[in-house]
Amino acid sequence: MTFTQMPWIDCSAGVMHAEEVSLPALAAQFGTPAWVYSTQALRANWRAFSAALVGRPALVCYAVKANANLSILRIFAEAGAGFDIVSGGELARVLATGVPARKVVFSGVGKSRAEIVAALEAGVKCFNVESAAELHRINTLACGLGLRAPVSLRVNPDVDAQSHPYISTGLRENKFGIPHGDALALYREASDLPGLRVTGIDCHIGSQITAMEPFMAALNKLLELVETLASQGIVLEHLDLGGGLGITYNDETPPSPAAFIGAIRERLDTHPIARKLEAVFEFGRSLVGNAGLLLTRLEYVKHNGERAFAVVDAAMNDLIRPALYQGYHQIVEVAPPPDRPASLYDVVGPVCESGDWLGKNRALRLRGNDDLLAILSAGAYGMAMSSNYNSRPRAVELLVDSGEVRVIRPRESVASMLQAEV
Ligand SMILES: *Cc1c(COP(=O)(O)O)cnc(C)c1O
Repeated sequence: MTFTQMPWIDCSAGVMHAEEVSLPALAAQFGTPAWVYSTQALRANWRAFSAALVGRPALVCYAVKANANLSILRIFAEAGAGFDIVSGGELARVLATGVPARKVVFSGVGKSRAEIVAALEAGVKCFNVESAAELHRINTLACGLGLRAPVSLRVNPDVDAQSHPYISTGLRENKFGIPHGDALALYREASDLPGLRVTGIDCHIGSQITAMEPFMAALNKLLELVETLASQGIVLEHLDLGGGLGITYNDETPPSPAAFIGAIRERLDTHPIARKLEAVFEFGRSLVGNAGLLLTRLEYVKHNGERAFAVVDAAMNDLIRPALYQGYHQIVEVAPPPDRPASLYDVVGPVCESGDWLGKNRALRLRGNDDLLAILSAGAYGMAMSSNYNSRPRAVELLVDSGEVRVIRPRESVASMLQAEV
């Protein structure tokens, strides 16, 4: 069996392999739970976007927050990516890969003074500004440094991304962005401030969006503003449509990267003003989500009345998506016994919360204790959101490349967890 969304996962020999490396071998050598990422998949995902933009000015940024491991950032940096950051910590990570700051856009609703100064001194491509108050703060700090800060206003286009409420960001009721109706006045204000240089416009309407319509609606709202701004003499250099393209976790059918870029490109390239603008994107999930899995081992099977539970050694502190927003992940046996019938289990972790589940009502053919399971589509918002809750050390991160494996973050030890505490 192979997984269409994850061609780097192969099960044809009866045992799952990540690229050419068998998962039981990884578990034996590095223990579980373990994050396993595919270099080939990361590179292929990147190429799918960049190839669709050949011949037009564009910058595909990787949204660091989806998976901030330095080795993963380095793969995208080498491929030519820009980066979308949301904190000073992410700025430091990105600069550590050697990427020039002029390929970095700085998003986020609560940029602190220290973060703004660090980004100004580094010389980022653009601040994606989310409020009038932030605009003025950036202006003041830039003036103090004798600089002009490149700014774009993050417009909230008030479109429904039709995604989970926790990951929808483009509705008026969300905390994100500047209301579409206020943007024009704020652009005029920005263009008069001495510490600012207006360079772009952006939006980001949510995450795990699997239809094209919300993106096109948002793009049309931005283009209206671009036209009005141009008529008032405010000329932009780039248009940033954010990220948010969904992936297949279960049976979703999002547009492919090529179809997504093709539709956006068609609209931009036929627009009298926008065809000259650099197109910027900020993809997170769609670049890394299906390039990673979480490898876990069965600890116990238990029955509470009617319900059967598979208690595994990964938990909500590792992968919080199911607990936080009912995120669905396929869970599969690493070495499925062919002649055993499947039964239904709730796959749960050891954490003391009823919300600590990874999958409900999953058909699994379990042999017994120590079976290995793979939780798929875990490359995005997995390790990045993991914690030490219940004093659980965070898991090891492994990067596979053909037949080779590299530890790109060692498993935390209990000693290292306690070290910083007095
Ligand atoms: C999180 C985020 C992204 C990436 O979103 P994905 O759904 O992972 O593509 C892009 N831009 C901004 C501003 C974000 O906050």
